[in-house]
Formats: sequence, structure tokens, C-alpha cells
Amino acid sequence: EKMILNGKIVVRSDISVDVEDRGYQFGDGIYEVIRVYNGRLFTATEHLSRLLESAKSIRLDLPFTIEDMESQLNELVRENGLEFGTIYMQCTRGVSPRNHAFPAPAVNPVYVAYTKPLLHSQELAKTGVKTILEEDIRWLRCDIKSLNLLGNILAKQKAAEAGCFEALQHRDGMVTEGSSSNVSIVTDGKIKTHPATNLILNGISRQVMLRLCKENGIPYSEEPFTTDELLAADEVFLSGTTIEVLPVIQIDGQAVGDGIPGVVTRKLQKLFRDEVIKQCGP
Ligand code: PMP
Repeated sequence: EKMILNGKIVVRSDISVDVEDRGYQFGDGIYEVIRVYNGRLFTATEHLSRLLESAKSIRLDLPFTIEDMESQLNELVRENGLEFGTIYMQCTRGVSPRNHAFPAPAVNPVYVAYTKPLLHSQELAKTGVKTILEEDIRWLRCDIKSLNLLGNILAKQKAAEAGCFEALQHRDGMVTEGSSSNVSIVTDGKIKTHPATNLILNGISRQVMLRLCKENGIPYSEEPFTTDELLAADEVFLSGTTIEVLPVIQIDGQAVGDGIPGVVTRKLQKLFRDEVIKQCGP
């Protein structure tokens, strides 16, 4: 199995983590997950642009262009014979004696990327998933796709222990996002999702979903909504790279709408699937 290390394609056994890698010690780094369908990268430019944005936000200089990264990721996918799956990539601020302040002079960032097979989960997409409501305890730069995921992890673990798929987080009474997904509601046929502020990650799937709404005349607005609105919504759905559009059928044991995936959600699932086929083939 091949991986990318600092711009070179190597085998896994050639990669090791230094105990003083700042990603390992501080979570001082950023990451992306890109979906591969039919051996093709879905919305690669959008993900790689966001990676560069995240890097900029944490003042990390990356010596790669989007074009270089994309062509090398394509090479990795080919070498690994990956048809359906994901690419995980991360960049840390590098290896340096432990000290909170940035290394001075700066050291080279450590960039790794690898692939993982993943088949489209038809089962969950059909049935929908159960969720819990959870207070959003994360920091105030959730727009950065940073390696610091403790808040997300603690929320997801609570969901897992409740036998649920996802934790829907709320801050000051407003719903922000899932622990690893964006969340939208449908009320009287209109979609509402949190605006792309510092309080959420502006998901690429969220952006694709909103574009599909626009192109297909499905009304939507990017505005915060309360936990009460969430619980009273006709439909609730998640979006994300590995889940596409996923219906939520339960929140804290209470049914969403009729307790089955709603019509608008199902329409969006179909539109999203069609978009994947359009970009990556059937
Ligand atoms: N929010 C969070 C916190 C996430 O981790 C993710 C990624 N799974 C998303 C939203 C969805 O982002 P994307 O559609 O780019 O995968």
C-alpha cells in the first residue's frame, strides 16, 4: 500500500511519526478527506482549496500548489488501485523540540496522505440515522479543519454510547453542526442550515447540496436555527464527504416528522447521487 510523505510516494513502512511532531503533541496541523468514486476524486479542487485556507488560518506555509497535490493524489489512487474510497491527508507544523510557540526558524511541515476503501452505504442512506443533541463545547474557530478534534470526539462518543450515529451540537440555543457533519432542517418545504461562520466547518458537501438546491429551485436559507426549530422540523438531514446526504429520523429518542426519511431529503439524496455520477461516472 502506497502513501504520500512530503511530496513523495512511498510505502507505509517508510513512514514513522516523530514523538516531537507538533501534530502528535499539540494537534498543530490541518487535514482533509476527499471522496473517490470510480477512481476519480470528487470535488478535489474545493477540498484542496479549503486545505490551503486552513493552513493559512493557522499560519502554516505549505510548499505545494493545488495542481501538484491533485496530480499526486491521482497517482496515489492509481497506484493503490482505489476505485471507491477516501483519501485522508494531513499537514502538521513539523518536528521541533516541544515548545508551544512556532519553531524558529520554521521547520518543514510534515505532509502525509493515504487511501482507504469505502463503499457507498445504501443501508443507512435508506433508513436514516438516530442522533442526540449535545452542547457544542468546541473552540471558536470551527471553520478551520484542524487536527484538534477533542470536542468533536467527545460528542461523537456520547452519540455512540447512546446507540446513535451522530451528535447534533448547539451553542447558546442555536444548532451549529454535527460532530463530523453539517446539519440542515426542512420546515414547510424550505431548507435551513447554519451560515458559514467561525462556528461551523463550511462542508464541501454542504456547498454542493446548496448549489443543487439553487439549480433545482429548492428554497433554502443559510441562517441559524434553534434547538426548538430542530425538534419541530418536518425533516432533518446531515451532509458530509463520507455520508453524502443522510436523513436523521430521531433526535434524543424523539421522531423527526413521521420518523422516516422525508421527501425533500430523498430528493436531495437523488440530486447528490446524480452529481457524483455527473462528475465521476456511474
Ligand atoms: N463538520 C465537521 C465538524 C466535519 O468534520 C465535517 C467533515 N466530515 C463536515 C462538517 C462536513 O464537511 P465535508 O462535507 O467537507 O466533508
